[in-house]
Amino acid sequence: MPREEPDIIVVGAGIIGLAVARELLARHPGRSVSVLEREDEIGFHQTGHNSGVLHAGIYYKPGSMKARLCTEGAPELLAYCQERGIPARQDGKLIVALDTGEVPRLDELERRGRANGVPGLKRLRQEEIAEFEPHVQGVDALHSPATAVVDFQAVAREFAKDVEAAGGEVVTGCTVDSADLRANRLCVRHNHGESRARFAVFCAGAWSDRLAVAAGGDPDPRIVPFRGAWLRMRPARRDLVRALVYPVPDPDLPFLGVHFTRGTDDEVLIGPTALLAGARDSERRFAAADMRDTLAWGGTYRMARRWWRTGLTELRHAADRRALVRDGARYIPELTPDDVLPGPAGVRAQALGRDGSLVDDFVVSETERALHVRNAPSPAATSSLALARLIADRVT
Ligand SMILES: Cc1cc2nc3c(=O)[nH]c(=O)nc-3n(C[C@H](O)[C@H](O)[C@H](O)COP(=O)(O)OP(=O)(O)OC[C@H]3O[C@@H](n4cnc5c(N)ncnc54)[C@H](O)[C@@H]3O)c2cc1C
Repeated sequence: MPREEPDIIVVGAGIIGLAVARELLARHPGRSVSVLEREDEIGFHQTGHNSGVLHAGIYYKPGSMKARLCTEGAPELLAYCQERGIPARQDGKLIVALDTGEVPRLDELERRGRANGVPGLKRLRQEEIAEFEPHVQGVDALHSPATAVVDFQAVAREFAKDVEAAGGEVVTGCTVDSADLRANRLCVRHNHGESRARFAVFCAGAWSDRLAVAAGGDPDPRIVPFRGAWLRMRPARRDLVRALVYPVPDPDLPFLGVHFTRGTDDEVLIGPTALLAGARDSERRFAAADMRDTLAWGGTYRMARRWWRTGLTELRHAADRRALVRDGARYIPELTPDDVLPGPAGVRAQALGRDGSLVDDFVVSETERALHVRNAPSPAATSSLALARLIADRVT
């Protein structure tokens, strides 16, 4: 049972909610903080189903929240992992241009990375690529030695220990339904009854729009779920990839494209795809209410009109493993369908505007006595410590 009258309630025990609770307790040791999580496990949704890449800050528009919080948050999180013995490895990554047509976009990435202060960036000529990734082909590449891999769910568990050690509580199996003002408190209703807090921070990932609306917030933007599926490289073929190999992404999309990731456990994943999904829940393929919400949102059709070609490619990747492998083989010509096995999947909580725009930057909005994290896609896990500071400043 959660406390009935904590000072602050944080909804959602993903990496963001836990980082926020931890930061608030560090600043205000006397205050009581309750984290309410509907699942029985911490970090069960996006935090436990992602590429595990600690991004260095290359992609993001200089001056954006993503650029600032990622470049601040990544080294801090890496240091935290090293201090707490959480698996993390800084093996660096390559962004590879396949032909000269992609080079101007690679130039722009390099420009952004330098403007954002990403350390150690180095441009590689075609013949230098093999020094880093002997099996990868391309005409040009950008190497980022600061990029790392971590286990974000393990980080979230460690954050939860910090919260409890500082006197906070993390209550799992507690689903929040709504919130409204009563006298000078925010009354948060959940499946165990209700808790009344002076303030609440909603970090509910794929359900953030529904809870914001239930607390009196704007329905725009809406969350649309994008399913990302990976293939696993067979153990005997993992030597095709040393660290991280990424394509040059489409600058108009918030997704980075199908990449190769060697994780902290040495597993090599290929993916993720990015297909509009039938459910917000990482464990389900279809949920009627989620479908209804996606289809009832005007932005969905505007987005579909603009991105239908990309959607068809994603559909092909999702439906046919060989199509995904063919795409990967443009970077690693030795890769064949026999080298891969089915892999995990996760669901991205992507905010979509009424005008059909995929919201790129992080969004934190307000209702009375509450803050709502309305868009925290990648690199939010990387940025979690810095994003938590920004949110704690606003709570204060
Ligand atoms: C395929 C994929 C690849 C990615 N790759 C990377 C990467 O390489 N690097 C990176 O930095 N980021 C990556 N991300 C993004 C990253 O995973 C997210 O930005 C981050 O995990 C967001 O954390 P969160 O706490 O906001 O969300 P979540 O982890 O989804 O947590 C939200 C929590 O709120 C809970 N909740 C929801 N509704 C309620 C309710 N009503 N009551 C109580 N609890 C509720 C949920 O159960 C959940 O535990 C990736 C994401 C995906 C899906």
